[in-house]
Amino acid sequence: MYFNNNTLVFLDGHFVKADQASCSAYAQSLHYGYAAFEGLRSYNTPAGTRIFKAKEHYERLRYSCQAVGLPLSHSVEELTEITYKLLEKNNFTDAYIRPLVYAGEPNMGIKAPATSNLFIAAWEWGKYLGDQCLRLMISPYERPNPKSVPIEAKISGHYANSIVASSDAKNKGYDEALLLDMNGFVAEGPGSNFFFEKGGELYTAPAGSILKGITRATVIELAREAGIKVHEQFFRPEALKEAEGAFLTGTAAEVVGVSSIGEHVFQKPFADTIGARLARQYTALVTGQAAGHLLTV
Ligand code: PMP
Repeated sequence: MYFNNNTLVFLDGHFVKADQASCSAYAQSLHYGYAAFEGLRSYNTPAGTRIFKAKEHYERLRYSCQAVGLPLSHSVEELTEITYKLLEKNNFTDAYIRPLVYAGEPNMGIKAPATSNLFIAAWEWGKYLGDQCLRLMISPYERPNPKSVPIEAKISGHYANSIVASSDAKNKGYDEALLLDMNGFVAEGPGSNFFFEKGGELYTAPAGSILKGITRATVIELAREAGIKVHEQFFRPEALKEAEGAFLTGTAAEVVGVSSIGEHVFQKPFADTIGARLARQYTALVTGQAAGHLLTV
């Protein structure tokens, strides 16, 4: 799925064949989860192939590196340029893009390294068709304490928590986990942000114990433009009993509906919720079909 014999990736200043991009089994990042990454998407738009919010994603990558002391010398502009080149070389339009900054030197120590490696891969990812809604489960696993490693940094090691929570939910027959923070407030999904609808308004966890999603910010902007109130506030799982609908947001998932949370099944079909409306608007925006200032691809 990720590459074939012809796929090129970017590794430390060069475009190389994907099957030749390798990493030492002694790499510090592999042992300790000490790496930063991003997930971006490009879309086929009337103006050509466009990476959605490349600036925001690469600013977050730079922030993530800086938050944990991983060296990254490339500017946002350079990273964006490399990524467009990578798409062009692979002839990709609709793609998922995965930049990774890692400590690849053999090093079993736990001191931040003086150098890092930059890997950027992309693979074709067409429009996901179908509108299957997800059955969520409140996870027994909590999001990491934001004072352990900054939670607003997209650090590989955090995703041990995501994998454990998501696998647990799936093993129990659900589609995805919904995680609380260390104080018992609803935080987010393992790889997405969470919103619920009540009385024509939206509620989502505030910054603090979540990854501040770029899709989340886009959806909040779209909702507010449409005159829909969005509350960024802490809420407990009990508040979800009064929810009339819910959805997850993320670069990969885009805006995906939720049909139930634990035993609580939403009565309103997702198609009739604010989430469904925002999902359509989001698609229009990323594919360049929407007019207006929000079209900052
Ligand atoms: N939370 C977590 C834990 C994530 O991994 C992601 C995916 N990057 C998100 C939220 C959504 O972020 P974005 O909308 O920027 O993709």
